[in-house]
Amino acid sequence: MVVKAYGAYAGDKPLEPLEITRRPPGPHDVQIDIAYCGVCHSDLHQVRAEWAGTQFPCVPGHEIVGRVSVVGAHVSGFRPGDLVGVGCIIDSCKHCEECETGLENYCDGMVGTYNFPTPDEPGWTLGGYSQRIVVHERYVLRIRHPEDQLAAVAPLLCAGITTYSPLRHWQTGPGKKVGVVGIGGLGHMGIKLAHAMGAHVVAFTTSASKRDDARALGADEVVVSRNPEEMAAHAKSFDLILNTVAAPHDLDAFLALLKRDGTLTLVGAPASPHPSPDVFNLIFKRRSIAGSMIGGIPETQEMLDFCAEHGIVADIELIRAEQINEAYERMLKGDVKYRFVIDSATLAV
Ligand code: NAP
Ligand code: ZN
Repeated sequence: MVVKAYGAYAGDKPLEPLEITRRPPGPHDVQIDIAYCGVCHSDLHQVRAEWAGTQFPCVPGHEIVGRVSVVGAHVSGFRPGDLVGVGCIIDSCKHCEECETGLENYCDGMVGTYNFPTPDEPGWTLGGYSQRIVVHERYVLRIRHPEDQLAAVAPLLCAGITTYSPLRHWQTGPGKKVGVVGIGGLGHMGIKLAHAMGAHVVAFTTSASKRDDARALGADEVVVSRNPEEMAAHAKSFDLILNTVAAPHDLDAFLALLKRDGTLTLVGAPASPHPSPDVFNLIFKRRSIAGSMIGGIPETQEMLDFCAEHGIVADIELIRAEQINEAYERMLKGDVKYRFVIDSATLAV
């Protein structure tokens, strides 16, 4: 079926309305009428061809929430009318070690929600800036939040799981000191989640204007990272620092804040590399630099349920589809508190 969408025909062209085709639901497929889709900085990197390999037309969007409209004959877990979500993964090989342990995000055959090869038209996946999507049931998540929070749940599907997964992997909890660098879409979720897990949370921001907000989000302390004295006050004290910054920057400034065996985990994915850090900052305290990519399907469901139980949603600004280009410009300036979400009903007009 043909549905309305928003996408771009080239990396240097704005996004515009277009029509795309969704496959008819197969036996294991769930057809979802999309209600809202969050706007991730990865969407901007991809659609502007800042990362390698963007196929055009490109329809971004991997923070999808909506309602099931059709299910295939063999679908047992979902029924029409259910509130569901789809994140960054819509398929994987289903039989490798990663898939069998619920780490589909690390499967070599993972199919991302946009810009990945698919037998469907036009040969690569098209994302959630669209009215409808058809997804194998294995990759569909159940939403247990109240329905009136649905728009603010959307960003959990990427920003939520991308911060939840490393926080859990590096054992965030009471007694741990955890830093979150970059208070954007990912970072503001990182603060909320680390706080809910019981850690002592320190927010690092380049924007002094976010100081009060970061506290309201759940940070116990806020450091303006451009201020060397404020940084030095936290030397050798962190168990984990989660770095969400979308641009290359000096990692040494954060490595020096880790205690022995501490970890700096990078989830931000800038288009060009960070300057190489000083090895001495690693060897003297056996520190690590690590990376983490989104999270697997079972952990994404666990994160959604954790958020429903703790009353956690994203702080959002709802936009109409035609505001997307302006939203990208504002996101680049850090002028969003803290995630844009597209109201998919505005695609129809
Ligand atoms: P975002 O909303 O734009 O937030 C990024 C934040 O980083 C900004 O709000 C800003 O925070 C800080 N920042 C930006 N430019 C900076 C600079 N030049 N120097 C220092 N700080 C800067 O972006 P997002 O949606 O959270 O995504 C962040 C990054 O994570 C992107 O690169 C995205 O592609 C990547 N990502 C990775 C995964 C994964 O699986 N690993 C998943 C999703 C997204 P302050 O104003 O507080 O400094
Ligand atoms: Zn994302």
